[in-house]
Amino acid sequence: MNVDLKQLTRDLAERVGEENAFSDRPTVLAYAKDTMPWDVEAHHMPYAVVRPADARETAAVLAYANDRKIPVHTHGSGTSLVGLGRPKTNAIVLDTGRMQELSVFSERGYFEVGPGMHIGKLRKALAPYNALLPVFPGSEPVATIGGSIAVNTSAHAVDASIGKPGDYVLGLEAVLPTGEILQTGTQSTRKPAGIEATKFLVGSEGLLCVITKIRMRIIPRPHMANIVAHYRSTEDILDTVMTMYRQGVPTPLFFEYLDEKAARIGFEAVGLAPPTGAVAMMSMHSATEAGCREKARLFLEFLQGSSATDSRIVTDEAEWGKIWSSRSEAGNYVYRLGSTFGSEVTPRVDKLKEAFREAKQIILNLESVQGNEFVSFGHIGAPTIHAYAFLPTKDIPNEVKKAVTLEVREKTEALNVKYGGCGGEWGLTAQRAGFLMKKFGPAYVEVLTRLKRAFDPENILNRGNLEGWL
Ligand SMILES: Cc1cc2nc3c(=O)[nH]c(=O)nc-3n(C[C@H](O)[C@H](O)[C@H](O)COP(=O)(O)OP(=O)(O)OC[C@H]3O[C@@H](n4cnc5c(N)ncnc54)[C@H](O)[C@@H]3O)c2cc1C
Repeated sequence: MNVDLKQLTRDLAERVGEENAFSDRPTVLAYAKDTMPWDVEAHHMPYAVVRPADARETAAVLAYANDRKIPVHTHGSGTSLVGLGRPKTNAIVLDTGRMQELSVFSERGYFEVGPGMHIGKLRKALAPYNALLPVFPGSEPVATIGGSIAVNTSAHAVDASIGKPGDYVLGLEAVLPTGEILQTGTQSTRKPAGIEATKFLVGSEGLLCVITKIRMRIIPRPHMANIVAHYRSTEDILDTVMTMYRQGVPTPLFFEYLDEKAARIGFEAVGLAPPTGAVAMMSMHSATEAGCREKARLFLEFLQGSSATDSRIVTDEAEWGKIWSSRSEAGNYVYRLGSTFGSEVTPRVDKLKEAFREAKQIILNLESVQGNEFVSFGHIGAPTIHAYAFLPTKDIPNEVKKAVTLEVREKTEALNVKYGGCGGEWGLTAQRAGFLMKKFGPAYVEVLTRLKRAFDPENILNRGNLEGWL
Protein backbone atom coordinates (compact mmCIF):
# COMPACT_ATOMS: atom_id res chain seq x y z
CA MET A 1 0.00 0.00 0.00
CA ASN A 2 1.40 3.38 -0.99
CA VAL A 3 0.89 5.91 1.75
CA ASP A 4 2.15 9.48 1.65
CA LEU A 5 3.42 9.68 5.24
CA LYS A 6 3.70 13.46 5.30
CA GLN A 7 0.13 13.90 4.05
CA LEU A 8 -1.12 11.18 6.42
CA THR A 9 0.49 12.87 9.42
CA ARG A 10 -0.99 16.24 8.43
CA ASP A 11 -4.45 14.71 8.02
CA LEU A 12 -4.21 12.92 11.37
CA ALA A 13 -2.94 16.08 13.07
CA GLU A 14 -6.07 17.88 11.84
CA ARG A 15 -8.16 15.29 13.69
CA VAL A 16 -6.23 14.92 16.98
CA GLY A 17 -3.98 17.98 17.13
CA GLU A 18 -0.41 18.28 15.92
CA GLU A 19 1.06 17.32 19.30
CA ASN A 20 -0.81 13.98 19.19
CA ALA A 21 0.10 12.70 15.73
CA PHE A 22 3.58 11.27 15.09
CA SER A 23 5.36 9.58 12.23
CA ASP A 24 9.01 10.02 13.23
CA ARG A 25 11.01 6.77 13.25
CA PRO A 26 11.88 6.61 16.96
CA THR A 27 8.22 7.02 17.98
CA VAL A 28 6.76 4.56 15.51
CA LEU A 29 9.50 2.03 16.31
CA ALA A 30 8.50 2.09 19.98
CA TYR A 31 4.98 1.04 18.93
CA ALA A 32 6.17 -1.66 16.53
CA LYS A 33 7.24 -3.95 19.35
CA ASP A 34 5.43 -5.77 22.10
CA THR A 35 6.77 -7.80 25.04
CA MET A 36 7.47 -10.89 22.95
CA PRO A 37 11.05 -11.89 22.15
CA TRP A 38 10.95 -11.87 18.36
CA ASP A 39 12.45 -9.07 16.31
CA VAL A 40 10.64 -6.13 14.75
CA GLU A 41 10.27 -6.61 11.00
CA ALA A 42 9.41 -4.07 8.31
CA HIS A 43 5.71 -5.01 8.24
CA HIS A 44 5.33 -4.24 11.97
CA MET A 45 6.35 -0.61 11.53
CA PRO A 46 3.41 1.80 11.98
CA TYR A 47 2.84 4.51 9.40
CA ALA A 48 1.97 6.86 12.22
CA VAL A 49 0.83 6.99 15.84
CA VAL A 50 -2.18 8.97 17.06
CA ARG A 51 -3.33 9.71 20.59
CA PRO A 52 -6.98 10.80 20.44
CA ALA A 53 -8.52 12.57 23.44
CA ASP A 54 -11.97 10.99 23.30
CA ALA A 55 -14.57 9.09 21.28
CA ARG A 56 -15.13 12.01 18.91
CA GLU A 57 -11.46 12.21 17.90
CA THR A 58 -11.25 8.41 17.74
CA ALA A 59 -14.25 8.41 15.39
CA ALA A 60 -12.61 11.03 13.17
CA VAL A 61 -9.43 8.94 12.87
CA LEU A 62 -11.30 5.70 12.18
CA ALA A 63 -13.64 7.22 9.59
CA TYR A 64 -10.61 8.72 7.81
CA ALA A 65 -8.72 5.39 7.84
CA ASN A 66 -11.79 3.43 6.81
CA ASP A 67 -12.42 5.66 3.79
CA ARG A 68 -8.84 5.01 2.64
CA LYS A 69 -8.72 1.35 3.78
CA ILE A 70 -5.70 2.05 5.99
CA PRO A 71 -5.31 -0.49 8.84
CA VAL A 72 -5.56 0.78 12.43
CA HIS A 73 -4.02 -1.05 15.36
CA THR A 74 -5.32 -0.19 18.85
CA HIS A 75 -2.60 0.05 21.49
CA GLY A 76 -3.23 0.03 25.25
CA SER A 77 0.23 -0.58 26.66
CA GLY A 78 1.31 -3.41 24.36
CA THR A 79 1.90 -5.86 27.24
CA SER A 80 -0.24 -8.68 25.88
CA LEU A 81 1.83 -11.87 25.98
CA VAL A 82 0.44 -13.59 22.94
CA GLY A 83 1.11 -11.33 20.02
CA LEU A 84 -2.08 -9.25 20.23
CA GLY A 85 -0.12 -6.14 21.08
CA ARG A 86 2.01 -5.87 17.97
CA PRO A 87 0.74 -4.50 14.62
CA LYS A 88 0.78 -7.27 12.00
CA THR A 89 0.68 -4.88 9.10
CA ASN A 90 1.86 -1.32 8.54
CA ALA A 91 -0.91 0.64 10.20
CA ILE A 92 -1.96 3.75 12.05
CA VAL A 93 -1.44 2.90 15.71
CA LEU A 94 -4.16 4.37 17.90
CA ASP A 95 -2.79 4.81 21.42
CA THR A 96 -5.56 5.09 24.04
CA GLY A 97 -3.24 6.71 26.61
CA ARG A 98 -4.92 10.13 26.68
CA MET A 99 -8.34 8.68 27.48
CA GLN A 100 -8.00 8.40 31.24
CA GLU A 101 -10.98 10.25 32.68
CA LEU A 102 -12.48 8.62 35.78
CA SER A 103 -15.94 9.42 37.18
CA VAL A 104 -17.10 7.49 40.22
CA PHE A 105 -20.89 7.39 40.74
CA SER A 106 -21.04 5.61 44.07
CA GLU A 107 -24.73 6.51 44.48
CA ARG A 108 -25.40 4.56 41.26
CA GLY A 109 -23.03 1.70 42.14
CA TYR A 110 -20.62 2.12 39.23
CA PHE A 111 -17.68 4.04 37.85
CA GLU A 112 -16.82 5.11 34.32
CA VAL A 113 -13.26 5.20 33.10
CA GLY A 114 -11.36 5.90 29.92
CA PRO A 115 -9.57 2.85 28.46
CA GLY A 116 -6.08 4.33 28.76
CA MET A 117 -5.84 4.40 32.53
CA HIS A 118 -3.28 1.98 33.95
CA ILE A 119 -4.80 -0.71 36.14
CA GLY A 120 -2.57 0.10 39.14
CA LYS A 121 -3.53 3.77 38.96
CA LEU A 122 -7.23 2.92 38.73
CA ARG A 123 -6.98 0.57 41.72
CA LYS A 124 -5.49 3.41 43.79
CA ALA A 125 -8.12 5.89 42.61
CA LEU A 126 -10.91 3.48 43.60
CA ALA A 127 -9.49 2.72 47.06
CA PRO A 128 -11.34 5.62 48.82
CA TYR A 129 -14.61 4.07 47.59
CA ASN A 130 -13.70 0.72 49.17
CA ALA A 131 -13.93 -0.83 45.71
CA LEU A 132 -12.33 -3.98 44.42
CA LEU A 133 -11.09 -3.78 40.83
CA PRO A 134 -11.47 -7.39 39.60
CA VAL A 135 -8.45 -7.35 37.27
CA PHE A 136 -5.04 -8.53 38.50
CA PRO A 137 -2.41 -9.07 35.80
CA GLY A 138 1.23 -9.12 36.89
CA SER A 139 1.61 -6.19 34.47
CA GLU A 140 -0.87 -3.97 36.35
CA PRO A 141 1.44 -0.97 36.84
CA VAL A 142 1.54 -0.51 33.06
CA ALA A 143 -1.30 -2.51 31.45
CA THR A 144 -4.44 -0.48 30.73
CA ILE A 145 -7.98 -1.19 31.85
CA GLY A 146 -9.01 -0.93 28.16
CA GLY A 147 -6.52 -3.66 27.18
CA SER A 148 -7.83 -5.90 29.94
CA ILE A 149 -11.48 -5.42 29.00
CA ALA A 150 -10.62 -5.85 25.32
CA VAL A 151 -9.09 -9.24 26.17
CA ASN A 152 -11.39 -9.95 29.15
CA THR A 153 -8.60 -11.21 31.31
CA SER A 154 -8.87 -11.55 35.07
CA ALA A 155 -5.30 -12.78 35.49
CA HIS A 156 -4.52 -14.06 39.00
CA ALA A 157 -8.12 -14.28 40.11
CA VAL A 158 -9.64 -17.69 39.79
CA ASP A 159 -12.57 -17.58 37.38
CA ALA A 160 -14.59 -19.94 39.57
CA SER A 161 -14.26 -17.52 42.46
CA ILE A 162 -15.34 -14.11 41.09
CA GLY A 163 -15.58 -14.57 37.32
CA LYS A 164 -14.08 -12.40 34.59
CA PRO A 165 -13.89 -8.56 34.56
CA GLY A 166 -16.46 -8.57 31.75
CA ASP A 167 -18.99 -9.92 34.25
CA TYR A 168 -18.79 -6.53 35.98
CA VAL A 169 -18.94 -4.34 32.86
CA LEU A 170 -22.35 -2.67 32.71
CA GLY A 171 -21.81 -0.85 29.46
CA LEU A 172 -19.34 0.61 27.00
CA GLU A 173 -18.78 3.57 24.76
CA ALA A 174 -17.22 2.15 21.62
CA VAL A 175 -16.29 3.52 18.22
CA LEU A 176 -16.91 1.39 15.16
CA PRO A 177 -14.34 1.32 12.36
CA THR A 178 -16.79 3.26 10.20
CA GLY A 179 -16.75 6.11 12.74
CA GLU A 180 -20.13 5.64 14.49
CA ILE A 181 -20.10 5.98 18.26
CA LEU A 182 -22.04 3.26 20.11
CA GLN A 183 -23.37 3.41 23.67
CA THR A 184 -24.13 -0.03 25.05
CA GLY A 185 -25.53 -1.61 28.20
CA THR A 186 -27.21 -0.02 31.16
CA GLN A 187 -26.84 2.55 33.93
CA SER A 188 -28.58 0.19 36.31
CA THR A 189 -26.52 -2.26 38.36
CA ARG A 190 -28.69 -4.97 36.78
CA LYS A 191 -27.15 -6.17 33.55
CA PRO A 192 -29.43 -6.63 30.54
CA ALA A 193 -30.51 -10.17 29.69
CA GLY A 194 -30.52 -11.51 26.14
CA ILE A 195 -28.63 -10.28 23.09
CA GLU A 196 -26.84 -7.07 24.01
CA ALA A 197 -23.81 -5.49 22.34
CA THR A 198 -21.64 -5.19 25.49
CA LYS A 199 -21.27 -8.98 25.44
CA PHE A 200 -19.80 -8.97 21.91
CA LEU A 201 -17.47 -6.08 22.54
CA VAL A 202 -15.94 -7.16 25.87
CA GLY A 203 -13.22 -9.61 24.86
CA SER A 204 -13.32 -8.59 21.18
CA GLU A 205 -9.52 -8.02 21.22
CA GLY A 206 -9.65 -4.80 19.24
CA LEU A 207 -11.12 -6.58 16.22
CA LEU A 208 -14.59 -5.02 16.24
CA CYS A 209 -14.30 -1.56 17.78
CA VAL A 210 -12.19 0.81 19.84
CA ILE A 211 -13.49 1.00 23.40
CA THR A 212 -13.45 4.62 24.58
CA LYS A 213 -15.26 4.34 27.92
CA ILE A 214 -15.97 1.51 30.32
CA ARG A 215 -18.78 1.48 32.89
CA MET A 216 -18.05 -1.00 35.65
CA ARG A 217 -19.90 -2.01 38.78
CA ILE A 218 -18.33 -1.06 42.10
CA ILE A 219 -17.66 -4.26 44.00
CA PRO A 220 -17.17 -3.81 47.75
CA ARG A 221 -13.57 -4.71 48.60
CA PRO A 222 -13.46 -7.95 50.60
CA HIS A 223 -11.20 -8.88 53.50
CA MET A 224 -8.43 -11.26 52.59
CA ALA A 225 -6.55 -14.03 54.39
CA ASN A 226 -3.41 -15.46 52.84
CA ILE A 227 -2.09 -19.00 52.95
CA VAL A 228 1.24 -20.51 51.89
CA ALA A 229 1.66 -24.24 51.35
CA HIS A 230 4.81 -26.23 50.59
CA TYR A 231 4.80 -29.42 48.56
CA ARG A 232 7.37 -32.02 47.59
CA SER A 233 6.52 -31.60 43.93
CA THR A 234 4.34 -29.58 41.55
CA GLU A 235 2.28 -32.68 40.85
CA ASP A 236 1.17 -32.71 44.50
CA ILE A 237 -0.20 -29.17 44.03
CA LEU A 238 -2.10 -30.35 40.96
CA ASP A 239 -3.66 -33.11 43.08
CA THR A 240 -4.82 -30.47 45.56
CA VAL A 241 -6.46 -28.39 42.81
CA MET A 242 -8.22 -31.44 41.38
CA THR A 243 -9.47 -32.50 44.81
CA MET A 244 -10.62 -28.95 45.58
CA TYR A 245 -12.95 -28.95 42.58
CA ARG A 246 -14.01 -32.58 43.04
CA GLN A 247 -15.00 -32.00 46.67
CA GLY A 248 -16.64 -28.62 45.99
CA VAL A 249 -14.33 -26.75 48.36
CA PRO A 250 -14.86 -22.95 47.95
CA THR A 251 -12.17 -21.73 45.53
CA PRO A 252 -9.73 -19.05 46.70
CA LEU A 253 -9.67 -15.70 44.91
CA PHE A 254 -6.00 -16.31 44.11
CA PHE A 255 -4.42 -19.77 43.89
CA GLU A 256 -0.94 -19.44 42.45
CA TYR A 257 1.92 -21.89 42.26
CA LEU A 258 5.64 -21.94 41.62
CA ASP A 259 7.16 -25.18 40.38
CA GLU A 260 10.34 -26.46 42.03
CA LYS A 261 12.65 -24.28 39.92
CA ALA A 262 10.51 -21.12 39.98
CA ALA A 263 10.07 -21.43 43.77
CA ARG A 264 13.82 -21.56 44.30
CA ILE A 265 14.46 -18.58 42.00
CA GLY A 266 11.58 -16.50 43.38
CA PHE A 267 12.22 -17.14 47.07
CA GLU A 268 15.95 -16.46 46.74
CA ALA A 269 15.20 -13.20 44.89
CA VAL A 270 13.03 -11.87 47.74
CA GLY A 271 15.44 -12.98 50.48
CA LEU A 272 13.50 -16.00 51.76
CA ALA A 273 15.09 -19.41 52.37
CA PRO A 274 14.82 -21.36 49.09
CA PRO A 275 12.27 -24.18 49.43
CA THR A 276 13.18 -27.76 48.53
CA GLY A 277 9.98 -28.39 46.56
CA ALA A 278 7.11 -26.50 44.96
CA VAL A 279 5.07 -23.75 46.59
CA ALA A 280 1.40 -22.76 46.41
CA MET A 281 -0.11 -19.50 47.65
CA MET A 282 -3.78 -18.82 48.13
CA SER A 283 -5.89 -15.83 49.16
CA MET A 284 -9.34 -16.36 50.61
CA HIS A 285 -11.83 -13.51 50.56
CA SER A 286 -15.01 -12.69 52.41
CA ALA A 287 -17.14 -9.62 53.22
CA THR A 288 -16.16 -9.65 56.90
CA GLU A 289 -12.93 -10.29 58.74
CA ALA A 290 -14.50 -13.06 60.80
CA GLY A 291 -15.94 -14.68 57.66
CA CYS A 292 -12.54 -14.51 56.05
CA ARG A 293 -10.80 -16.08 59.05
CA GLU A 294 -13.32 -18.91 59.05
CA LYS A 295 -12.99 -19.47 55.31
CA ALA A 296 -9.19 -19.56 55.63
CA ARG A 297 -9.41 -21.96 58.58
CA LEU A 298 -11.60 -24.32 56.56
CA PHE A 299 -9.28 -24.13 53.56
CA LEU A 300 -6.29 -24.82 55.76
CA GLU A 301 -8.07 -27.85 57.14
CA PHE A 302 -8.58 -29.02 53.57
CA LEU A 303 -4.88 -28.44 52.77
CA GLN A 304 -3.79 -30.31 55.86
CA GLY A 305 -5.64 -33.33 54.52
CA SER A 306 -3.72 -32.96 51.23
CA SER A 307 -0.12 -33.89 50.44
CA ALA A 308 1.18 -30.45 51.50
CA THR A 309 4.22 -30.89 53.73
CA ASP A 310 3.51 -27.60 55.47
CA SER A 311 0.67 -25.08 55.19
CA ARG A 312 -0.18 -22.02 57.26
CA ILE A 313 -2.05 -18.75 57.29
CA VAL A 314 0.39 -15.83 56.88
CA THR A 315 -0.66 -12.93 59.09
CA ASP A 316 2.54 -10.86 58.84
CA GLU A 317 1.93 -8.49 55.91
CA ALA A 318 5.63 -7.95 55.21
CA GLU A 319 6.21 -11.68 55.02
CA TRP A 320 3.21 -12.14 52.73
CA GLY A 321 4.50 -9.30 50.55
CA LYS A 322 7.72 -11.23 50.04
CA ILE A 323 6.01 -14.56 49.40
CA TRP A 324 3.60 -13.00 46.91
CA SER A 325 6.30 -11.09 45.04
CA SER A 326 8.42 -14.26 44.71
CA ARG A 327 6.06 -15.10 41.87
CA SER A 328 6.75 -11.91 39.93
CA GLU A 329 10.47 -12.40 40.60
CA ALA A 330 10.21 -15.82 38.94
CA GLY A 331 8.46 -13.97 36.09
CA ASN A 332 11.28 -11.44 35.86
CA TYR A 333 13.69 -14.33 35.50
CA VAL A 334 11.91 -15.85 32.54
CA TYR A 335 10.81 -12.62 30.87
CA ARG A 336 13.93 -10.52 31.31
CA LEU A 337 17.00 -12.71 31.56
CA GLY A 338 16.61 -14.62 28.35
CA SER A 339 14.09 -15.62 25.73
CA THR A 340 10.86 -17.16 26.86
CA PHE A 341 8.27 -19.01 24.83
CA GLY A 342 5.14 -19.40 26.87
CA SER A 343 2.00 -21.42 26.55
CA GLU A 344 -1.37 -21.43 28.20
CA VAL A 345 -2.97 -24.81 28.76
CA THR A 346 -6.36 -24.77 30.48
CA PRO A 347 -7.43 -28.42 30.65
CA ARG A 348 -10.50 -29.99 32.17
CA VAL A 349 -9.79 -30.06 35.89
CA ASP A 350 -9.85 -33.86 36.07
CA LYS A 351 -7.12 -33.96 33.38
CA LEU A 352 -4.85 -31.38 35.01
CA LYS A 353 -2.08 -33.78 35.91
CA GLU A 354 -2.00 -35.56 32.57
CA ALA A 355 -1.94 -32.22 30.73
CA PHE A 356 0.88 -30.91 32.94
CA ARG A 357 3.03 -34.02 32.37
CA GLU A 358 2.55 -33.78 28.63
CA ALA A 359 3.24 -30.05 28.55
CA LYS A 360 6.49 -30.61 30.42
CA GLN A 361 7.59 -33.31 28.00
CA ILE A 362 6.75 -31.06 25.05
CA ILE A 363 8.89 -28.23 26.41
CA LEU A 364 11.81 -30.49 27.32
CA ASN A 365 11.83 -32.22 23.92
CA LEU A 366 11.48 -29.37 21.47
CA GLU A 367 12.78 -30.06 17.97
CA SER A 368 13.38 -26.42 17.06
CA VAL A 369 15.80 -25.70 19.89
CA GLN A 370 17.81 -27.63 22.44
CA GLY A 371 19.14 -26.71 25.86
CA ASN A 372 16.07 -24.87 27.06
CA GLU A 373 14.75 -25.09 30.60
CA PHE A 374 11.20 -25.95 31.65
CA VAL A 375 9.73 -23.42 34.08
CA SER A 376 6.14 -23.27 35.22
CA PHE A 377 4.20 -20.97 37.53
CA GLY A 378 0.93 -19.11 37.57
CA HIS A 379 -2.77 -19.37 38.15
CA ILE A 380 -3.08 -23.09 38.78
CA GLY A 381 -6.32 -22.77 40.77
CA ALA A 382 -8.07 -21.37 37.67
CA PRO A 383 -6.74 -23.88 36.34
CA THR A 384 -4.06 -22.54 34.02
CA ILE A 385 -0.78 -24.31 33.28
CA HIS A 386 1.81 -21.89 31.93
CA ALA A 387 4.57 -24.06 30.56
CA TYR A 388 7.53 -21.87 29.63
CA ALA A 389 10.44 -22.85 27.41
CA PHE A 390 13.17 -20.61 28.79
CA LEU A 391 16.48 -20.06 27.01
CA PRO A 392 18.96 -18.19 29.20
CA THR A 393 20.07 -15.94 26.32
CA LYS A 394 18.57 -13.27 24.12
CA ASP A 395 21.08 -14.03 21.39
CA ILE A 396 18.99 -16.30 19.17
CA PRO A 397 18.40 -15.84 15.44
CA ASN A 398 14.91 -14.58 14.67
CA GLU A 399 14.13 -17.60 12.49
CA VAL A 400 14.80 -19.89 15.47
CA LYS A 401 12.61 -17.73 17.73
CA LYS A 402 9.77 -18.05 15.25
CA ALA A 403 10.28 -21.81 14.91
CA VAL A 404 10.23 -22.28 18.70
CA THR A 405 7.13 -20.09 18.99
CA LEU A 406 5.32 -22.14 16.38
CA GLU A 407 6.34 -25.49 17.84
CA VAL A 408 5.42 -24.54 21.43
CA ARG A 409 2.17 -23.04 20.28
CA GLU A 410 1.05 -25.91 18.05
CA LYS A 411 1.96 -28.66 20.47
CA THR A 412 0.43 -27.03 23.54
CA GLU A 413 -2.68 -26.00 21.60
CA ALA A 414 -3.10 -29.68 20.75
CA LEU A 415 -3.23 -30.29 24.52
CA ASN A 416 -6.05 -27.76 24.86
CA VAL A 417 -7.94 -29.60 22.11
CA LYS A 418 -7.20 -33.00 23.67
CA TYR A 419 -8.11 -31.99 27.23
CA GLY A 420 -11.09 -29.75 26.55
CA GLY A 421 -9.57 -26.31 27.22
CA CYS A 422 -9.79 -23.04 25.36
CA GLY A 423 -7.38 -20.62 27.07
CA GLY A 424 -8.35 -18.24 29.80
CA GLU A 425 -6.36 -15.03 29.63
CA TRP A 426 -4.25 -14.55 26.55
CA GLY A 427 -6.89 -14.00 23.90
CA LEU A 428 -8.05 -16.33 21.16
CA THR A 429 -6.73 -14.72 18.00
CA ALA A 430 -3.33 -13.39 16.86
CA GLN A 431 -1.11 -16.40 17.54
CA ARG A 432 -4.04 -18.72 18.11
CA ALA A 433 -6.28 -18.37 15.06
CA GLY A 434 -5.34 -21.87 13.81
CA PHE A 435 -6.34 -23.29 17.17
CA LEU A 436 -9.92 -22.12 16.67
CA MET A 437 -10.09 -24.13 13.46
CA LYS A 438 -8.70 -27.25 15.16
CA LYS A 439 -10.87 -26.93 18.22
CA PHE A 440 -14.18 -25.74 16.80
CA GLY A 441 -13.98 -26.33 13.05
CA PRO A 442 -14.66 -24.22 9.95
CA ALA A 443 -18.27 -23.23 10.78
CA TYR A 444 -17.11 -21.52 13.96
CA VAL A 445 -14.28 -19.68 12.23
CA GLU A 446 -16.67 -18.61 9.47
CA VAL A 447 -19.07 -17.13 12.05
CA LEU A 448 -16.23 -15.15 13.61
CA THR A 449 -15.08 -13.97 10.20
CA ARG A 450 -18.62 -12.83 9.32
CA LEU A 451 -18.98 -11.08 12.66
CA LYS A 452 -15.74 -9.23 11.98
CA ARG A 453 -16.95 -8.29 8.51
CA ALA A 454 -20.28 -7.01 9.87
CA PHE A 455 -18.51 -4.64 12.25
CA ASP A 456 -15.47 -3.89 10.12
CA PRO A 457 -16.26 -4.30 6.41
CA GLU A 458 -12.85 -3.03 5.24
CA ASN A 459 -10.98 -5.10 7.87
CA ILE A 460 -9.06 -2.09 9.12
CA LEU A 461 -9.00 -2.94 12.85
CA ASN A 462 -6.04 -5.04 14.05
CA ARG A 463 -5.68 -6.52 10.57
CA GLY A 464 -3.76 -9.80 10.72
CA ASN A 465 -4.84 -10.83 14.21
CA LEU A 466 -7.92 -12.80 13.19
CA GLU A 467 -6.09 -14.22 10.19
CA GLY A 468 -3.33 -15.51 12.49
CA TRP A 469 0.35 -14.84 12.03
CA LEU A 470 3.74 -16.54 12.07
C1 LIG B 1 5.02 -9.08 33.29
C2 LIG B 1 3.67 -9.36 32.70
C3 LIG B 1 2.74 -10.05 33.46
C4 LIG B 1 1.48 -10.31 32.94
N1 LIG B 1 0.60 -11.02 33.70
C5 LIG B 1 -0.59 -11.35 33.19
C6 LIG B 1 -1.47 -12.15 33.94
O1 LIG B 1 -1.19 -12.52 35.07
N2 LIG B 1 -2.65 -12.49 33.36
C7 LIG B 1 -3.01 -12.03 32.12
O2 LIG B 1 -4.09 -12.34 31.66
N3 LIG B 1 -2.18 -11.28 31.39
C8 LIG B 1 -0.99 -10.94 31.89
N4 LIG B 1 -0.14 -10.20 31.14
C9 LIG B 1 -0.57 -9.79 29.78
C10 LIG B 1 -1.16 -8.37 29.65
O3 LIG B 1 -0.64 -7.51 30.57
C11 LIG B 1 -2.66 -8.34 29.68
O4 LIG B 1 -3.18 -9.09 28.62
C12 LIG B 1 -3.25 -6.91 29.61
O5 LIG B 1 -4.61 -7.03 29.83
C13 LIG B 1 -3.02 -6.18 28.32
O6 LIG B 1 -3.20 -4.77 28.54
P1 LIG B 1 -2.51 -3.69 27.59
O7 LIG B 1 -3.00 -2.36 28.02
O8 LIG B 1 -1.05 -3.85 27.56
O9 LIG B 1 -3.16 -4.09 26.21
P2 LIG B 1 -2.44 -4.27 24.78
O10 LIG B 1 -1.41 -5.33 24.85
O11 LIG B 1 -2.02 -2.95 24.28
O12 LIG B 1 -3.68 -4.75 23.94
C14 LIG B 1 -4.21 -6.04 24.07
C15 LIG B 1 -5.28 -6.21 22.98
O13 LIG B 1 -6.41 -5.39 23.28
C16 LIG B 1 -6.63 -4.43 22.23
N5 LIG B 1 -7.02 -3.18 22.87
C17 LIG B 1 -6.31 -2.46 23.80
N6 LIG B 1 -7.02 -1.39 24.19
C18 LIG B 1 -8.19 -1.41 23.50
C19 LIG B 1 -9.33 -0.55 23.44
N7 LIG B 1 -9.44 0.55 24.18
N8 LIG B 1 -10.34 -0.89 22.61
C20 LIG B 1 -10.27 -1.99 21.83
N9 LIG B 1 -9.20 -2.83 21.84
C21 LIG B 1 -8.19 -2.55 22.66
C22 LIG B 1 -5.33 -4.35 21.46
O14 LIG B 1 -5.54 -3.99 20.13
C23 LIG B 1 -4.82 -5.79 21.59
O15 LIG B 1 -5.45 -6.62 20.66
C24 LIG B 1 1.14 -9.89 31.63
C25 LIG B 1 2.08 -9.19 30.87
C26 LIG B 1 3.33 -8.92 31.39
C27 LIG B 1 4.30 -8.17 30.55
